[in-house]
Amino acid sequence: MSEPLVIIGNGMAAARFADELSKRALGRYAIAVVGDEPRLAYNRVLLSSVLAGEVASSAIELKPRDWWADRGITLRYGCRATAIDASARIITLADGQSLPFSKLVLATGSQPIKPAIPGMALPGVITFRDINDIWTLWHRAGTDDRVVVIGGGLLGLEAAYGLAKASARVTVLHLMDRLMERQLDPYAAAMLKRAVEAMGIEVILNADTAEIEGANRVEGVRLKDGRTIQTDAVVVAIGIRPSAELARTGGIAVNRGIVVDDTMQTDVAGIHAIGECAEHRGLVYGLVEPAYEQARVLADCLAGRTARYEGSVLATNLKVSGVNVFSAGDFLGSEGTEEIVLTDPGFGSYKKFVVSDGRLVGAVLFGDTADGLWYLELIRSGASIAAFRDDLAFGRALVERVHTKPAPTRLAA
Ligand SMILES: Cc1cc2nc3c(=O)[nH]c(=O)nc-3n(C[C@H](O)[C@H](O)[C@H](O)COP(=O)(O)OP(=O)(O)OC[C@H]3O[C@@H](n4cnc5c(N)ncnc54)[C@H](O)[C@@H]3O)c2cc1C
Repeated sequence: MSEPLVIIGNGMAAARFADELSKRALGRYAIAVVGDEPRLAYNRVLLSSVLAGEVASSAIELKPRDWWADRGITLRYGCRATAIDASARIITLADGQSLPFSKLVLATGSQPIKPAIPGMALPGVITFRDINDIWTLWHRAGTDDRVVVIGGGLLGLEAAYGLAKASARVTVLHLMDRLMERQLDPYAAAMLKRAVEAMGIEVILNADTAEIEGANRVEGVRLKDGRTIQTDAVVVAIGIRPSAELARTGGIAVNRGIVVDDTMQTDVAGIHAIGECAEHRGLVYGLVEPAYEQARVLADCLAGRTARYEGSVLATNLKVSGVNVFSAGDFLGSEGTEEIVLTDPGFGSYKKFVVSDGRLVGAVLFGDTADGLWYLELIRSGASIAAFRDDLAFGRALVERVHTKPAPTRLAA
């Protein structure tokens, strides 16, 4: 008989895990997915493109309904898991039903962080996390509406771009002195600011929000320096927090996220966590690639193979049309690292590479990002770049042309 395996969360990590596990051990487990969003799992990464009108909301489903049914997976979406009894091995659902499990996989993702400032509960304050948020944004922030986006990181800028494309008048407020400071060095961040402003989006740096003002709905945002920006809506995009409460109340070890070992197991045998809710070696990732790597490792382990997750090298791509930004690894560098920089202000291009012990450890690209994945592979592999260091900044095509030995030609007899 198949072992009952329950996955809580019907997001990107859950869908990838179900896929990887069914490729390795179809039939070994009776899989049930419990998800509180009332729809099939979808590609959350594409929400920015949906907001910008570049992708239809109907086109972002990860797998069609039949795909799940064909693999014998039971889907319970629109249904929240409210409690885990780790010793009785039972999940309780919001509708009062319960589900027994032998193995449990927590893939509950994250929630947007809301700052503890007055006015956050006013109608017109919106987050940017799921498809409902997109519908609310479309409803609240159309042509000529004024929108303030709090947060000048990746999500905030993608929201600002989507709203500006919908002809809203957008102001981005960012607490720090440069945009995307966690992914970009000051030079690239300054280029990004100019590019964003050229789209008609106002950017205010060093902007510390004191209060969201309004009687019955949002009317303005007051900064701590006394300035007030009049607005019809506020999008809050200042960061995310792992959804780990369910695990915590179930007695599973939680730090910032649900603590897992290299096999993605929590401190309770047979209970696992993957994706944005998981904390591995002290790190919680907010990107999809680590979630997919974790899903692969866990599928291997639950199929009886040996596998370990050892952490991920992060890479970021901004999805703002016409503004190509890529960063990966240790892009700031530290003592003992060297930098290779190539700028072409005329073409709006900037490339910075951080090298340590003859290996590439980080990169920032602005403008021409076509070789981003190649640089990422060099960082991930830790391969020596000594043979082509001087040509590294000129890209993959040149390096491969100049530094790959031609195959020996056979001499005619
Ligand atoms: C607008 C946007 C743009 C993004 N762009 C990028 C990008 O360009 N590149 C990138 O790498 N990443 C990007 N991300 C992040 C990426 O989407 C996440 O890293 C990824 O979705 C994580 O997958 P997950 O399964 O861990 O979480 P999620 O996809 O969030 O799935 C978790 C699911 O669990 C559900 N859930 C939570 N608690 C319960 C419960 N108790 N019971 C039932 N269900 C529950 C949630 O409702 C949710 O549906 C973006 C995110 C957003 C919001």
